[in-house]
Amino acid sequence: MKVGIVGAGMVGSAAGYALALTGTVSRVVLVDQNAALAQAQAEDIAHAVPFASSTIVEHGDYPALAGAGVVILAAGVGQKPGETRLELLSRNAAVFRDVTARVLDHAPDAILLVASNPVDVMTQITTRLTGLPAERVIGSGTILDTARFRSLLGRHFDISPRSVHAYVLGEHGDSEVLAWSSARAGSVPLMSFAAQVGSPITENVRAQIDDGVRNAAYTIINGKGATWYGIGAGLARIVRAIVQDEQAVLSVSIATDEVLGVKDVALSLPRIVGAAGVRTDLMPDLTDDEARALKESATLLQSTADAVEL
Ligand code: ADP
Repeated sequence: MKVGIVGAGMVGSAAGYALALTGTVSRVVLVDQNAALAQAQAEDIAHAVPFASSTIVEHGDYPALAGAGVVILAAGVGQKPGETRLELLSRNAAVFRDVTARVLDHAPDAILLVASNPVDVMTQITTRLTGLPAERVIGSGTILDTARFRSLLGRHFDISPRSVHAYVLGEHGDSEVLAWSSARAGSVPLMSFAAQVGSPITENVRAQIDDGVRNAAYTIINGKGATWYGIGAGLARIVRAIVQDEQAVLSVSIATDEVLGVKDVALSLPRIVGAAGVRTDLMPDLTDDEARALKESATLLQSTADAVEL
């Protein structure tokens, strides 16, 4: 399958690099308004490919997206000094209006994979702008937060994160909800697992893991200005689920009719992802506190998305 990436900055190129090294797709096409950047990124990534796979990596303009099964949207503009978050969002919505129209002109059947932040609101906006069915406009959402949650739990228990089933729900951002109560390891509820392996989840451990998931991006941004490798690999993971029609359960964001009474909001839940995009949404069992926090996250996202001028 051919995968397009619009926006060849750090996130878009990291996704292209992850896709190429894993050999997940046959062809990756990078598009950017800065054509020289798209070309340079494509060539740099292409030089890594002979060591790993046979993926073809190239750059091009929108017509080069013809036939793409998935197009990753990683374009965006940075915040100007003094600009509010909402003003920035409106400018990014304008970028997406232009970009999505051009993408769909050439790749009308593609699944759109939204990476630009704030990703949940951008996913909602993209769904509105394109009029595509919600299951075909997927935001990376908490794919990374969930991976980090599983990885920190795995490290605490000294087991593979693949044996940990735990999800981060809601916003990819400050209001996200770690669904502790439904977390399991090796099919055993987390607290029982912790007791059986002698690694209790104390209040302190819980606070540290919560902080490690919620604030990971801030720590990275302090050190290197932005994050890209993690999200690049997360995007490649979602593409793999689509390309291989995996029907994998992943925490991703799509516009959802209703979440705990909040109507028409894009946020992350565990969802079944395959060749047609998202097939089904899942709602884990939640405690009252978790449900309250998820509803707050949904309310916040919905009011932000509603405030953006399209
Ligand atoms: P990030 O860290 O999110 O990847 P960057 O600023 O590195 O952010 O990348 C964003 C990319 O999006 C830039 O390369 C920029 O040229 C590109 N871009 C911005 N607006 C458009 C647009 N209208 N069409 C295509 N690409 C765009």
